[in-house]
Amino acid sequence: MNEEMRARAEIDLGALRANVRALRARAPRSELMAVVKSDAYGHGALPCAHAARQAGASWLATATPQEALALRAAGDTGRLLCWLWTPGGPWRQAIEADVDVSAGALWALREAADAARACGRTARVHLKADTGLGRGGCQPHDWDALTAAARAAEAEGVLKVTGVWSHFACADEPGHPSIAAQLESFRAALAAAERAGLRPEVRHMANSPATLTLPEAHFDLVRPGVSVYGISPSPEVGQPGDFGLRPAMTLSARLANVKRVPGGHGVSYGHHYVTAGETTLALVPVGYADGIPRHASGTGPVLVGGKWRTVAGRVAMDQFVVDLGGDTAEAGDEAVLFGPGDAGEPTAQDWAQAAGTIAYEIVTRIGARVPRVYVNADGG
Ligand SMILES: *Cc1c(COP(=O)(O)O)cnc(C)c1O
Repeated sequence: MNEEMRARAEIDLGALRANVRALRARAPRSELMAVVKSDAYGHGALPCAHAARQAGASWLATATPQEALALRAAGDTGRLLCWLWTPGGPWRQAIEADVDVSAGALWALREAADAARACGRTARVHLKADTGLGRGGCQPHDWDALTAAARAAEAEGVLKVTGVWSHFACADEPGHPSIAAQLESFRAALAAAERAGLRPEVRHMANSPATLTLPEAHFDLVRPGVSVYGISPSPEVGQPGDFGLRPAMTLSARLANVKRVPGGHGVSYGHHYVTAGETTLALVPVGYADGIPRHASGTGPVLVGGKWRTVAGRVAMDQFVVDLGGDTAEAGDEAVLFGPGDAGEPTAQDWAQAAGTIAYEIVTRIGARVPRVYVNADGG
């Protein structure tokens, strides 16, 4: 038996391409940068990057430079940004591979310029403003120093500021007061960059929720991630179908065992579930090592034999159990953990709710032991 018989994450690249087109239609005057960090949110970086390009993503983005360099090594040649740098990072390799880099502090700008000087190239740099997220990026009080240093490096010919950008804290909570405040701060940062003499190609701020709900945040380029994979950033933003999006990943497994047990039988570690009467238990051979959250013990939903079942007892490393009650099944029958939802199966959002997390985490954590199987790789 091969691994696909145990479990598989089917990735519908046709859905992914349609999602990219739907997102482009929501931001018709902006370019689209598809975020493919963290192995394309667990969907597989290379096939998803290729599909996003096919559907018109003129830019791709990763978090780490290593992720960006892997795309280059696989033959991607389009515009590509990576933003998660640490001192001593592979600046020179990124610059030589035509990867746009990000700097949100003087040390990063200096390392980019030094690397460009060392290899005789011009680094393409996106300056990152912290407009309120309080994570990466440059605070307003340091922005003039950063833009002035960037302008000086431009004059020297070692770098070009190709982008100015920022990131939202609460765009997935439409109407949150921080959204307007961040937009105002970003506009101020853009104006200051212009006064410093910088003329970026692309100004960008919109993640998925802002791409879907906030046209005034679209600027020259939108930067969606989770929605490319057909997942809504939050229930408050809406359902995927509200925006013409369709989840690309379907996670399924084959039942590894089905058996009758008497009433009063404990199930899985700790015996947190005890059968109410004689019943049929089915073993689903995926567990937390495969990314099934242990926090979904006793709550996670699974479609078996056309009905939703709930994880009975604890999720273990490699397996969990569902109680089929009066129904029967056979070893080898399919259990669908999540998918688009239109064949009656749960969605990643349902698992997020069951585990007290967000759908982003559900798909991104699906483990390397689960093979990704690509469908609709060609076509519209
Ligand atoms: C992950 C990420 C995105 C994409 O966010 P989504 O909510 O998945 O659309 C955009 N920009 C930055 C800086 C990110 O880290």
